[in-house]
Amino acid sequence: MKLFKLIFILFGVWILCAETALGQKPGFVPPPRRKSSDLYRNPVRVMLNQFSITGTTGYGLVMYSHELNNVYFYQSQSNQIIVPIVEGEPAPTGVIAGNSNWFNRSTYGDTLDLTNYFEVPYRPLDEPVFNPELRREFSMATDTMPLKFRSLSHSIPIGVVVHFNYLNFRAGAGATFERQYFTSFKPTTFKETIRPFEPEVSPVFFQRYFATVGYKFYDFWSYSFAGEAQIGVLRGGGKIKGEQPIYDYAVIQRGAFFNLGISIEKNLSEYFRVIVKPSFDYHTFNTNLTEAGIAIPHKQQTFFIQAGVSINIPDIRRCPLPSCAIQLKHAHNGNNEIVRGQPITKHQNPKMGQNHRKLFRYKWKNRNKIEPY
Ligand SMILES: [Zn+2]
Repeated sequence: MKLFKLIFILFGVWILCAETALGQKPGFVPPPRRKSSDLYRNPVRVMLNQFSITGTTGYGLVMYSHELNNVYFYQSQSNQIIVPIVEGEPAPTGVIAGNSNWFNRSTYGDTLDLTNYFEVPYRPLDEPVFNPELRREFSMATDTMPLKFRSLSHSIPIGVVVHFNYLNFRAGAGATFERQYFTSFKPTTFKETIRPFEPEVSPVFFQRYFATVGYKFYDFWSYSFAGEAQIGVLRGGGKIKGEQPIYDYAVIQRGAFFNLGISIEKNLSEYFRVIVKPSFDYHTFNTNLTEAGIAIPHKQQTFFIQAGVSINIPDIRRCPLPSCAIQLKHAHNGNNEIVRGQPITKHQNPKMGQNHRKLFRYKWKNRNKIEPY
C-alpha cells in the first residue's frame, strides 16, 4: 500500500510541476516573435555571400590537328620538310631547303637532296644494286590532296573560378593552369609511309585566363545543373629544358579560347557543394613560317572532365557560444545577431529542426579538439 501511496504522490507532484511550467502567470505578455528580417546580419558578409569560389582539377584529352595545304611535303630517312608551292613554277629539284617544324616554331634550313642519281643517259639495268624503287624519299604536293596530322595528348588542369551569383545566374572570372603531355602527330593519309611528325615539345605548361557566365537550369533534390561558358586567352607553354621557350611567340598567333560545360553540383549545404564538370574547349592558333611566307593553322580542342569543391562565404557567422548545441540558424535572447549552428559543410534542413542527435563538434572524433568545427 505504501508503494501505491508513494507513486500517487509523485504523480501529483509531477502534474503540479508541469502545470506551473506550462501555465502562464496572469498578466504575462510573451515577447513578440522576432522576424528573420529584424535579425542582424553583417552586411559585408551578406554581400560576400553572393560570391562563390570553386576549385577543380581533373583530366583533359587534347586533340591537336592541322592540315598542310599548298605545300610540297618531303620526307627523307632523316627529316621531313615542307616547301610552299609557287604557282606556275615547277617542283624544286636538287638540294632543297624548307621548314622542318611548323607547329611550335618556324624552323627553316633543313635540307633534303632530291637529285635523282638514277637518271642516267643510258638504259637502266634491270636489277641494279641501287634500285630506284628502294629510294626512301617520299614526296607529295598537297595542293590536290591535303595532308592532315593529328595528335591526341593528355593534360592535367587545375582551375579556380570566382563567381558572383544572382538568382540562377552566375558570372565571374578565373584561371586554369594546364600541364600537357604530347604524343606525336600521326598522318591521316599514307599512314604506312609518312612517319609521325614530332615537334620538339617537352611537357608544356599553359595558363588560361577567362571570363565566365552561367545559368542554373535544373534542380533535382540536392543536385543542381548549370550550363557555363568561358571565353579567354591561352598563354605560355613553358621552356625546353628550362632554356628555350617551347612556343616561339614571334611567329605564333593565338586566338581566344572558348569553353562550354555543364556543372553538376551536389549541394552538401547551402554554403558548400561538390561539383563534377565535363566541358569542351576550342582554341586555334597560327604558326607563321616567315621564310616560306605561309601560315599553318592549328586546332587545339580539349575534352575536360573536372571535379572539385565550391564554397560560398556564409552570410552569418557560427554561434560563438561554446556550450550552444542548436543546429538550426538561431539568435540568442538579448542578442539580435542570427548565427549558424553547423559548420558550412553540414547540411541543415531549416524545416527539419535538429538534424543530428549530437552536435557535430561533440562527436567522438572531435571531442578532444580545442577548436572543433
Ligand atoms: Zn547558439
